[in-house]
Amino acid sequence: MSHEAAAGTGIPGGGEGPGRARVFVADLGTPEPALPVLEETVSRLFELTGQAGAVASRMVLVKPNILASVPSEMHVTTSPPVVRAVVRTVRALGGRVVVGDNPGGVERNSLRTAEACGILAASEGCFRNLSDEVVEVPSKSPYASTFVLSRLVLEADHVVNVPVFKTHMLTTLTGAVKNCYGYVAGANKARLHLSAFSRGRFAHLFLDIYSRRIPDLNIVDALYVMEGNGPTHGRVRPLGRPVAGTDGLAVDAVLTRMMGLDPLDLRLFQKAAELEGDPAWGRLGRFRSEEVEVLDLDGRPYPLGPIPDFALPSTFNVSLERQAELLIALGTIRPVVRPELCVGCGDCTRNCPPQAITLDPYPVVDGAKCISCFCCAELCTEGAMEVPAGQAAGLFDQMFR
Ligand code: SF4
Ligand code: SF4
Repeated sequence: MSHEAAAGTGIPGGGEGPGRARVFVADLGTPEPALPVLEETVSRLFELTGQAGAVASRMVLVKPNILASVPSEMHVTTSPPVVRAVVRTVRALGGRVVVGDNPGGVERNSLRTAEACGILAASEGCFRNLSDEVVEVPSKSPYASTFVLSRLVLEADHVVNVPVFKTHMLTTLTGAVKNCYGYVAGANKARLHLSAFSRGRFAHLFLDIYSRRIPDLNIVDALYVMEGNGPTHGRVRPLGRPVAGTDGLAVDAVLTRMMGLDPLDLRLFQKAAELEGDPAWGRLGRFRSEEVEVLDLDGRPYPLGPIPDFALPSTFNVSLERQAELLIALGTIRPVVRPELCVGCGDCTRNCPPQAITLDPYPVVDGAKCISCFCCAELCTEGAMEVPAGQAAGLFDQMFR
């Protein structure tokens, strides 16, 4: 697709029509496009969403997902070529770029993590450790009185959110809204896990943190997608379809439909629906199918459908979502260690919010303390902590047979 051809489609700038959010799907036909193709695609997405003229002379924070120190080939973190394409596009449009994120767990030095996953190099000299300067801001949700956020997030003129499309054992989807949990600095994430230890509470917290600085643009790295028990050790599949829009909830709704679910199947959207009309929250975004228009790069309706045979996390059960929340809140779904993969590094003990893990010599989980947040599985780079497929289903069977 050339820019000239696209420009002739009559798509107005501004990204969104009066009543519906617009989300664009760039069907590239390959998960490994050449960098110039990716740059052209990202540039087009800026145009279509009305952001091309909005970044000149402004300080633009590019916020990828830098969850853990793992190689980019695992597709746990945002693909370096996608980050590079966004950095180059913002620069070409006259913006001053800063790239940064807070990694998962208690890690405070994102430089190490960014180097391991290739994002430091892809940032082309613009990377900053977001934990260096923090600000404490009041919370609107009842599970924390304040949040400790990175100052740069709040001071940026413009935020371009660049998550990666994955499943998540606690939240089912990690996309645009969940990526903003990375606004929270270092060990403060563990404190929030402790105070909001259920899916519903956590969804409430996410929306609160997201609303502290709603990104101006979301470009989801969906070159690959992780299914199953993400966000670190699920199964990776090629997709080749970056998704973008100015409304993060609308973007996440499109990802949810690609996973074969209705947005209101997820606690994130159930909570967003509950908060609608509350003047303290304002407008978080649009997510119902009738509120979201899905278009291709030429501005034509995009035939959105579920990814065939997409595997959801074993912790998710669509018809029993609220019961699943109860089970998780009671700590009945617990990770187990695979000793054959464990290298005894102790990262899981350091990253466990309630300090429920001891090494003896392999990790031992204290079931009375565990809050089933799955941080240990998420942050174990060896894949040695997992929620075995069938554990949640077995519990459902026992309770509801
Ligand atoms: S389970 Fe993973 S994080 Fe924990 S000690 Fe073993 S290898 Fe390290
Ligand atoms: S053992 Fe794992 S799932 Fe349980 S509270 Fe600790 S980090 Fe969370």
